[in-house]
Amino acid sequence: MSEELRKEAAKMLLNGATLLSEPCPYCKGVRVMKEGQALCTKCGRKPGKKKIVTEEKRENPLKQTLDKKLEDLSKELEKEMDHDKQQAILKSINSVLEMIDKIKEK
Ligand SMILES: [Zn+2]
Repeated sequence: MSEELRKEAAKMLLNGATLLSEPCPYCKGVRVMKEGQALCTKCGRKPGKKKIVTEEKRENPLKQTLDKKLEDLSKELEKEMDHDKQQAILKSINSVLEMIDKIKEK
């Protein structure tokens, strides 16, 4: 496990992420799950993202925008070291996820 990945995983856990019971499909490593995104602590892969991209085509255009936003926010969160800003980003992620849920219900 690389130091960087271990730090990121620890950060995710501190922010309410949970450990996944299923191991990574690529390397059988331990994964943490946060906001619907699983991160492998061993190889750093985030399986499942590709699926979202291929599904986008026949979905609501707003959903595409929200998915894109979610991706941007998670990248932002990854880079952000300031704890207060992390919380702010997580709040935005939460709002986006709620919005995505609302669209799904229709
Ligand atoms: Zn892995």
